Amino acid sequence: MLSLWRKIRRTGRVAEPPPPLPEGDRPEGAAVLGGSVQIRHVDAGSCNGCEIEIASAFGPVHDGERYGARLVASPRHADALLVTGVVTRNMAEPLRRTFDAVPAPKLVVAVGDCARNCGVFAGAYGVAGAVRDVVPVDVEIAGCPPRPEAIVEGLRKLTGR
Ligand code: SF4
Repeated sequence: MLSLWRKIRRTGRVAEPPPPLPEGDRPEGAAVLGGSVQIRHVDAGSCNGCEIEIASAFGPVHDGERYGARLVASPRHADALLVTGVVTRNMAEPLRRTFDAVPAPKLVVAVGDCARNCGVFAGAYGVAGAVRDVVPVDVEIAGCPPRPEAIVEGLRKLTGR
């Protein structure tokens, strides 16, 4: 136990220094959330590459929570949805229902090229469309997969911190 404490003390803080506040307008409706945004993640048909980067965005190095963004387990506790992947036919209705379960005002972030424009899966037989074809989207984060820095930047547009 003592050796663990020594190791923690020796390692210190590993979080990257915070980059400057992202440029550009905050999405409409974000200001009312007061800088604290609870987020429900929805995998609408991702390959899991985006999920790995989201995990990194909330890990100790990028520490997305320090900007006021927090992942929650239920859409009923959420202010925003973080949607990854192309929307498959099987996930279109669950995504719609999850969106409906989020109390207003609510925001949607489309993470990754699949979520933005179907990416590499465009035209595939099981694809219903991009996220904006199913629910309204407020922020899009480009990349396949997006870097954790880009995900944190997108989340900071919601929190304004
Ligand atoms: S954008 Fe790339 S990493 Fe993300 S779900 Fe699509 S294929 Fe996977």
